[in-house]
Amino acid sequence: MPKYIFISGGVVSSLGKGIATASIGLLLKSRGLQVMPLKFDPYINVDPGTMNPFQHGEVFVTDDGAETDLDLGHYERFINRNLSRDNNLTAGQIYSAVIEKERRGEYLGRTIQVVPHITGEIKERIRKVARGQDVVLTEIGGTVGDIEGLPFLEAARQFALEEGRENVLYIHLTLVPFVPSAGEFKTKPTQHSVNKLREIGIQPDILLCRAEKPLPPDAKEKIALFCNVQPEAVIEAVDVKNIYEIPLVFQRQGLDDLIVRKLGLRRRSRVDMKPWREFVRRQSQAQKTIAIGLCGKYVQLRDAYKSVIEAIVHAGAAVGVRPEIEFIEAEELSSANVRTRLSRFAGIIVPGGFGVRGMEGKMAAITFCREQGVPFLGLCVGLQVAVIEFARNVCGLKGANSTEFAPKTRYPVIHLMPAQRGKRIKGGTMRLGAYPCAIRKPSLAFGCYRRRLVWERHRHRYEVNNRFLGLFARYGLIASGMSPDGRLVEMIELRHHPFFIATQFHPEFKSRPLAPHPLFTSFLKASYEFAQRGTATGTGAAA
Ligand code: GLN
Repeated sequence: MPKYIFISGGVVSSLGKGIATASIGLLLKSRGLQVMPLKFDPYINVDPGTMNPFQHGEVFVTDDGAETDLDLGHYERFINRNLSRDNNLTAGQIYSAVIEKERRGEYLGRTIQVVPHITGEIKERIRKVARGQDVVLTEIGGTVGDIEGLPFLEAARQFALEEGRENVLYIHLTLVPFVPSAGEFKTKPTQHSVNKLREIGIQPDILLCRAEKPLPPDAKEKIALFCNVQPEAVIEAVDVKNIYEIPLVFQRQGLDDLIVRKLGLRRRSRVDMKPWREFVRRQSQAQKTIAIGLCGKYVQLRDAYKSVIEAIVHAGAAVGVRPEIEFIEAEELSSANVRTRLSRFAGIIVPGGFGVRGMEGKMAAITFCREQGVPFLGLCVGLQVAVIEFARNVCGLKGANSTEFAPKTRYPVIHLMPAQRGKRIKGGTMRLGAYPCAIRKPSLAFGCYRRRLVWERHRHRYEVNNRFLGLFARYGLIASGMSPDGRLVEMIELRHHPFFIATQFHPEFKSRPLAPHPLFTSFLKASYEFAQRGTATGTGAAA
């Protein structure tokens, strides 16, 4: 029978509940347990697909094409398991499902209420993913006390009643601030937050206390006493520089032993955290730093590029370099300043993004990389802009564009496929999720993957217009990855350049600490070699 862990947060948001959940998942998995993570987002949006990245950060895409919360990215990376649309549920989805059932008459004329109907739907979704699992880890988004979160917490409370208290564990993540004027840690916010939970009927079993430095024993004792938890169940989550250390920090304090004991989980095998520890060690031991420029338009919010950043970090550990990632606001770049702004970078990435803003700046960055032999990796819109740049500046098709930005262009090098035309923009018409890509051989792409067929995740509407492929090839830009039926361009590269690759898909979603993505590792290797040879302004292009 599966066991259930619920993780809630209090005091303030952004304490790293997603990473804490992912870390617990990893620790349990490393004991040979089947762990299924689940994230509830109490907002009314059906999914984050239509939300502005500034509001929500990255939209993480699963193999089955669900647009999900970025915490699913953490779960996949830490637990090393592919998730699906069943692993991220929003209040919007829950309410629409209940309303649809009501319209179909499934409630037989009863009055539909938050309790028991909404909570019933929530519990049903948890049980749906629980089949065949040892542990279901449910993270409840938001903070205790939010109005929207109440039905989710209420469902979590009911779970212990239905499944048996011994099969359910409540973990609460709070903040224990250090107040410099008083010279001490303050436990009151944590006490209040736990009180709030207890009002709802949930007594937490374990507290994860976020603090800027280790808590003194008396603070821990006070928290234990006032919050009614065992002293050993007050776990510190001290700030660390590297998120991948958090599972190790928890393990050192015996968090996994505690969970296993409290839930009566049988240990199936020896705890094996060795590969993870090795990964963290490789990261900290890397000496050679290389500067990587990320040129996009959501640069004020690092969360908007979460998976890209993590993919670079994973690749850095694998290659043995320390990537220093710098964000470059695309709108501030132009052909007049690219050389001064970009010459310090060993490699440039243009990540995905929607809309025309910043396009000219991205184009200037790409021209610079193409002409100076700077390693370049374009992701999604990064491929589209690279194609436009090439068409305009190399093939001489002045005014070449994407029909997304210029519907009437004479040279629509990026366009909507006929099947996509005339459809609604929001929801439902994007190419979403994993698709196969056939890799051309020989090519740079094949050199990275060493495979003829790969599956990668997509999130876009526009595609390369194949009508121009013959022309591009004559000038040295080839489609090195295509859909197996030959209809869709999935990857492009430049023939006479040390490393210039772009993908219509998002490889970053599939990179894992213990399985770094080959495009990112190859890109970092190329960047390192480029930095060794001298900067762009120094030695210049290789071809
Ligand atoms: N605007 C592009 C499209 O919809 C790119 C989207 C993206 O980068 N994710 O095709």
